[in-house]
Amino acid sequence: MIKSIHWYIILAFVLLGVMFGCAKQPYSSSNKIYRQQTKKFAKTLQANPGLPVSDSIQQPKHWVGTTNFNLRKPHFVILHHTAQENCNQTLNTFTSSKREVSAHYVICKEGTVYHILNDYLRAWHAGVSRWGQVEDINSVSIGIELDNNGSEPFPSAQIDALLALLNKLKSMYNIPTGNFIGHADIAPSRKQDPGILFPWELLAKQGFGYWYGDTSKVNVPKDFNGEYALKMIGYDMKNPASARVAFRRHFLSATINEVFSNAELKVLYLIWQKYY
Ligand SMILES: [Zn+2]
Repeated sequence: MIKSIHWYIILAFVLLGVMFGCAKQPYSSSNKIYRQQTKKFAKTLQANPGLPVSDSIQQPKHWVGTTNFNLRKPHFVILHHTAQENCNQTLNTFTSSKREVSAHYVICKEGTVYHILNDYLRAWHAGVSRWGQVEDINSVSIGIELDNNGSEPFPSAQIDALLALLNKLKSMYNIPTGNFIGHADIAPSRKQDPGILFPWELLAKQGFGYWYGDTSKVNVPKDFNGEYALKMIGYDMKNPASARVAFRRHFLSATINEVFSNAELKVLYLIWQKYY
């Protein structure tokens, strides 16, 4: 009898173990890796002359620790759509070390915001890209992914959550108005997101990115060069046709690959003036 009671107790513990195992947070293992990684980076930041300084020229004999500094701040916000089916799929992707992609925030359709990386750390969202003279966009930007398959409108709850987040980021890091741009703007030959359905005009009205306004009284100078203007705004002109399409995607909700019409040149002229 005593023996069988022992077995009941063991069985109860096994069952409890299984139950706790099932209730385990779905992202606990990736959270653990996150903690390990940030601890490693904290060590790099705290390194003093007694330790090798892995992120600068090693001259320990001449090291003097200044008292006046803070963290470097992000200077751009890059907006993406996930091109995936739902938020869970995106979170799975961003917590899989095999995929080697990430962002700082994921915003679901109903407005839930997942913060998945500290703003001061470098996410892997931009890839090979360029804006003006900046080529390492990941080092200077915050990446925000919107749950969207690329061919559906963005629900207002999702955009409201995005606007609230952008407000916070803009004031926290003093990000310039013109530096709220899309993935397709910085990688015109490779990317299309956040796509022609993204409400750039609405964002610009709230101070995130530029918009052109009334074009009816605009006189574009005869010597105005569209390609030069795109370059001055920031577009990578390695492939001028791709840059044109990226501009159209962002400001004209179109994707045709032709030289700019007079009406389109007016839009470009106004946007160019906002940047310069
Ligand atoms: Zn993207």
